[in-house]
This record gives sequence, structure tokens and C-alpha cells, in this order.
Amino acid sequence: MTFYSSHTFKKTRYYQQLPQSEQVAFDILTEVFHFKTNTYVLENLIDWDKAPQDPIYQLNFPSPSMLSSRNYQLLLDAYQRGDINFAHAIRKHKPADVPIHQQRIPRLQGALIKGTYQAFPNLLFLFPDPMTKTCHAYCSYCYRWKQFVGDTLRSDQTYSYDDPHTPIPYLKAHPEITNVLFTGADPLVLSANKLQQFIEPILAIDTVRVVQISTKSLGWWPHRFTTDPDAEQLLRLFEHIQSKGKHLSLTAHFTHPRELENSIVKQAIRRIQSTGAVIRCQGPLVAGINDSPKTWATLWNYQIDLGLIPSYMFIESGHNHEASFRVPLAKALSIFQKAQQQTTGLTHSVQGPVFMNDIHRVLLDGIVAIDHKKFFVLKCLQSPYPESEGQIELIPYDKHTRSAGDLVKMFTPQEVLNEAYLAS
Ligand code: SF4
Repeated sequence: MTFYSSHTFKKTRYYQQLPQSEQVAFDILTEVFHFKTNTYVLENLIDWDKAPQDPIYQLNFPSPSMLSSRNYQLLLDAYQRGDINFAHAIRKHKPADVPIHQQRIPRLQGALIKGTYQAFPNLLFLFPDPMTKTCHAYCSYCYRWKQFVGDTLRSDQTYSYDDPHTPIPYLKAHPEITNVLFTGADPLVLSANKLQQFIEPILAIDTVRVVQISTKSLGWWPHRFTTDPDAEQLLRLFEHIQSKGKHLSLTAHFTHPRELENSIVKQAIRRIQSTGAVIRCQGPLVAGINDSPKTWATLWNYQIDLGLIPSYMFIESGHNHEASFRVPLAKALSIFQKAQQQTTGLTHSVQGPVFMNDIHRVLLDGIVAIDHKKFFVLKCLQSPYPESEGQIELIPYDKHTRSAGDLVKMFTPQEVLNEAYLAS
């Protein structure tokens, strides 16, 4: 396997064959944003005859639409003057990622449990340190991009943990936590040995019933399950987790149907399924990459054909407010509904379009008319506050809006907001 950074990619024939304007865009945008690719993506996924418009190219490579036209022009001018400080200035101004809500970081006897996050009562997110470092390739829209360019996500350094036993006392003290989610970056960049070190202590806790692993390795590097030196060992680990009575769910991130078309990914899927693990799929709706009903219908149809479970269509997080990845809400809803109509009835269990704001999952559920006025219907699917789950809110319909407003505020009970206000 060969990985490419922005520096090494420039030495490939793929870079050489890009139009000159695209080479310049690549050179200057990778001064600001994250970039990583690999041989599989370059040779099997991107249609180079269609780059830079090709959707997988857009998925993997930064594009000028990730900045306002003013900032892109300023960056271009600075680059032509040989001044890269402006790139660093832009990077500093971008939000790090979706906001971290400190009160959702668990504590035991007053001490923070590093590298964990409890968005919902029954689910604990786990961030072992090595898993937060990298992925097999980077998605242009990734909200974790700052950690890939060397900026820390949390100034208090609570973002990840090194000792595999870190979450154990908290899990033992909280039997209501039935699910743990290993997330990252991508947990499956780790060796099978290293993964086992972090997973094994969890398997001894009876109240944890579901082990979830969130990954894009099927999309970016399916060889992880076929020809990597420890691919067999990884599959044996999947079997081992289930032999301890746990349900193993791989949450696979797919963005475009092409990620499911070649024989390598199909073989990888069959090998995972042969262990008994269940693969559930999710991905964001992103402008320029998958913003059409046909693309989603094809993606879901492929998933069903391959025995995967399509679960969520997310709306891209507002990690970079200048970027034009976000699809207008009315269009997002229409894409979701039309895509469902073009597939088998099995996609009616897919939830979408869904916003994630780090403490809630909120469904954009439809449009209603009241007294000749139209409204978007928002429904809270999951929340740390039981009274918020199922809550419906109406916001004025606007065909062009890309924002549903402050969803954290909308679905957080007033008394909690008052407490937070008093504490601040
Ligand atoms: S695979 Fe996930 S964490 Fe990695 S770059 Fe893509 S969105 Fe970000």
C-alpha cells in the first residue's frame, strides 16, 4: 500500500495530468486543508478523465469551493507572492469541528474520563489515542480536518486516551451504557493487535452488549480485510468479539456508489459478513459529490444487493462555514424522498436527512402548511435529555436556506439552558 501526502502526490503522473489551474488550486489549498490519498483511490476509484469534476476526486481532493471566493482569491494572491502565512491565518479562523460540549464528557468521582464522550445515555463514544490520528485517505468534507493538519481539537487535552482500561471503571459504574462506539478518525488503520488491546477490556463488561466500530476503510482501503498482512487476524478479532456474546456492528461510511462497485470491496464485504458482523451504512449528503436522487438510490440499491443495511443520510456538519458542501434543506429533503421512491421498500427504514450537532440527532422530517404558510418539520431522534426525544419543532420554510438554526438550543430543555447560562 502506498499513501500520498500533498508533497508525494505532486510527484505522481496523476498530478502531472491535471489542468494547470487545478494544480495551482491543489498546491494552495493543501497549505490550508488536510490531504491524504492512496494507490487504491487513485487507481480504482477516481475517474481521471473527468477530474476535477469527478465525484470521487471531489470527495478526496480539496476544492476552491471550500473557501469563500474572497478568501480563495486572497490565498491565490498570497501564494503568487510566495507568502504562505495567509494560509495559516485562514486555518486558524476555521472552527475546529462540531462544537464539543464539555458537559457530555463523562466524569467519575469528579475526574474527567479522557477520550470518551456520552452523547446519549446508552452509548459511549471511545477515542483511543492511536485511532484519532489518521484514516486510509481523507474526505474533503471531514469535520475532523484540523486534527489532521496538526492542530489539537481540545485545549484541555481530554480528546483521547492511551490506556485501554481508561473507560472501564466508568462503564462498570454505568450499566445503562449498552453500546460502545470506537470511532476516530478511523479505528481500522490500527493493527489487529493494537485494536484488540483496546477492545479486550470492554468484552469483560456484561452490560455492554454492542460493540460498534465506525470506519471508512471499506470505501478507502478494502484491502484492510483481504490482503493486508493482518487481515486474517482482524477477521478473527471480529469473531472473537462475537464469541464473547457481543453484537459487532461495523458502521461503514459510504458517500458514492462507485465505492461499492469493484470486486475488491465486494470481496472485503463478504469476508466481514462471514464473521457474523453486521455492516450498517451511513454517509453525508454533499454538494458536488452525491446531491442527486439517482446517486442515493444507486448507493442504497448496491448496499441492499450486498447484504448491507442502509441506515442514515446525514447533512454535512457546518465545520467550515465557507465551504459549499451543504445542500439547501428543501433540496436535501427532496433528494431523500425521491431516492427512497426509486429503491426497494427496504430503504424505508433509512433515516434522513439527519443533522448531528454533537448532542442531538435531528431529523428533517418533512414540510407542512399551516394557514397557507409552509414550515420545515424537525424531529429530535436522539438526545441526552429524554424529554427532548420525539420533540417536534417547526421552522419557516425557505427554499434556499441551508441552515435549520441553532439545533442545540432548539432541542435542549429550557432548564438545562438556564443552568448553563447561570454557570457561564
Ligand atoms: S474517513 Fe471519516 S474521519 Fe476520515 S477523513 Fe473521512 S470523514 Fe474524516
